[in-house]
This record gives sequence, C-alpha cells and structure tokens, in this order.
Amino acid sequence: MTLNSNFIKKFGDSFSNNVKLSNYSWFKLGGKAEFFFKAKDIHQLKEILEEVRKRGLNITILGAGSNTLFRDNGVKGAVIKLGKDFSYTKIINKDIIEAGAATLDRKVANYAKDNCIGNLEFLSCIPGSVGGAIIMNSGCYDNDISKVLVSLTAIKKSNLSLIEIKSENIEFFYRGTNLPNDLIIISAKFKGQIRDQAEIELKQSNLIEKKKFSQPSQIKTCGSTFKNINKDKKAWMLIKESGCDKFKEGDAIISPKHCNFFVNDGNAKSSDIEDLINKVKMKVYEKTGENLELEIKIIGEKKI
Ligand SMILES: Cc1cc2nc3c(=O)[nH]c(=O)nc-3n(C[C@H](O)[C@H](O)[C@H](O)COP(=O)(O)OP(=O)(O)OC[C@H]3O[C@@H](n4cnc5c(N)ncnc54)[C@H](O)[C@@H]3O)c2cc1C
Repeated sequence: MTLNSNFIKKFGDSFSNNVKLSNYSWFKLGGKAEFFFKAKDIHQLKEILEEVRKRGLNITILGAGSNTLFRDNGVKGAVIKLGKDFSYTKIINKDIIEAGAATLDRKVANYAKDNCIGNLEFLSCIPGSVGGAIIMNSGCYDNDISKVLVSLTAIKKSNLSLIEIKSENIEFFYRGTNLPNDLIIISAKFKGQIRDQAEIELKQSNLIEKKKFSQPSQIKTCGSTFKNINKDKKAWMLIKESGCDKFKEGDAIISPKHCNFFVNDGNAKSSDIEDLINKVKMKVYEKTGENLELEIKIIGEKKI
C-alpha cells in the first residue's frame, strides 16, 4: 500500500495530497503540500502525528497563513492545519476567555466585546489565528499577546504529551517567543478587563479605522515583511530612506500605502517576493548599515 492510500484509509477526508498551498496563504502564492492534514480534533491530531512521526516526515503547522510565504517548490512532508474542534471561544472566569488555537483573532475580540471584556480589542486588527498570534507575539497599538495571555495548552510533537504553559514561563520578545518548535498550540487563555460594552465597541472600531487608514487592505500580502529595528527605526522608514519603496520583481511590488507591506499584485511567483525581499534587504544594508530581519515566515523547498 502506498503512503497516500494508507493515509486516505486512515484519515478519510481529513487527508489530501498535493494540495495547493496558495489557497492557504494571504499572499495567494506557493507550490503544493506533499501531504496535507486537517485535524478534526485532538484525538485525530494525535493519530496524525503518530503516523507522520513513524514515517519520519517533516511537520509544518499552519495557522491562518497571514504571516507565511510558501515557496513555489512546495513543502515536503506533512502540513497540518487545525480543524473545526480547535475553533471555539468560552468564558473560563469572568474576565478570562479560552480560545481554540484555530480561532481567528478577530473572533476572540468580538467574543470578548459581547461579554464586556475589554483590552482584547487589538485582536480585531490581526488577521491570523490564536496559534499564529502566540508564536508571533502579535500585536498593535501598544498591546500584544504577551500582555494578555494567561496560559496555553500544547501538544508535543516528540512524544504526543499535552502540556500547559503559563505565560510567566514564556519569554516573549518583539514578534516572537522562546517556545520550542516541538509544540503545537491547541488552545489558550486570555485575560481582559471588565468594561462597559459601548466603551469596548468604540475602542475596537477606532482601532479598525486607524488600521484601515494607515495600512492597505484587500490586497494579497502577509502584512509587515520585516521587523522594525526599534521605535525610531521602523522598517518602512529604512526602506523609504534607502529609496527601495518603488522596487519590484515581476508582479511582486511594494505597497504604495505602506512600504513594509510586500504584495502579490497579480501573477507574482513566491520567488519574486523572495527576490524582492533580498533586493530590499541588501539595499537597506548598503545605504543605512541596518540588517533588516524578516517578520514573515518563509517555508518550503528552495530553488535548485
Ligand atoms: C493585512 C495584514 C495585517 C497584519 N497586521 C498585523 C499587526 O498589526 N500585528 C501583527 O503582529 N501582525 C500582523 N500581521 C501578521 C499576521 O497576521 C500575524 O503574524 C498573525 O498572528 C499570524 O497568524 P496566522 O494564524 O496567520 O499564522 P501563520 O502565518 O499560519 O503561521 C505563523 C507561524 O505560527 C506557527 N503556528 C501557527 N499556528 C500554530 C499552532 N497552533 N501551533 C504552533 N505553531 C503555530 C506557524 O507554524 C508559523 O511559524 C498582519 C498580516 C496581514 C496580512
């Protein structure tokens, strides 16, 4: 029996092969996933991990794909996305919400608003999932995950055990954490503050408006390409100052509204975006001596 028929037999419609990853990235780019699993629930996730581990396959975890560029040559091994059972919100205590790792951040923000829990409004501006937001320590407008996370529950890829990690035991930094690569986050608890619902609603809509005003929307992008060096040296400033803001490679362009947003403006290839990234990085270094670090994750097989 081939690996494919084996997986089909065991996982039915939770498994497919040669899946186009462009359907799973906000860039709408990328080759195919050799094996693609959408785990229905934790029981199935464990079964999938057991099978792929047994066969020594490489494992890639995918959230909402709003920070991920998949290469044109696709991803070898197993790409795993968390399915239905990982998308939920519930109140744990009066100001603490639990959310499944696949829940979209804006759903957590809306749920918090509906339950008069404030200080989670910023999540309505981040287009990813809870799992991705924790890994990235995502944030905006003076807030980020590190300030609201109580704890997370994860499964270890190496031995399939479940583990709860309290926020105080995680080292958070700007757009990252020290969480080991071995973890698949399955849920998280967030603490807000009890507030008047109208106040929360106003704050949330103000943040959404602010974001719409300063950043492009309705385009194929993964948001900020590079991390800011610091508050005074933002990546977009360095890109502009170095004269790269009009650079392009094929259909990969830089957004005229925000020059740290790289865009698939039609029929770009992933390699066009990657070439544009390298070109800008080199120019910025040459002009300013600053070494821009990627915020987006690039995953997949390199060009041969
Ligand atoms: C228009 C736009 C605006 C944006 N604005 C902001 C912003 O204001 N602030 C900000 O911080 N970011 C912003 N981003 C970037 C992006 O939305 C965030 O980084 C987001 O948190 C990524 O979540 P995701 O689920 O899409 O992650 P993905 O892109 O799917 O994955 C990101 C990383 O997380 C890992 N991961 C995902 N889920 C899990 C899991 N369950 N367990 C373990 N690892 C996991 C992946 O393996 C990968 O390494 C923006 C993006 C876009 C497109």
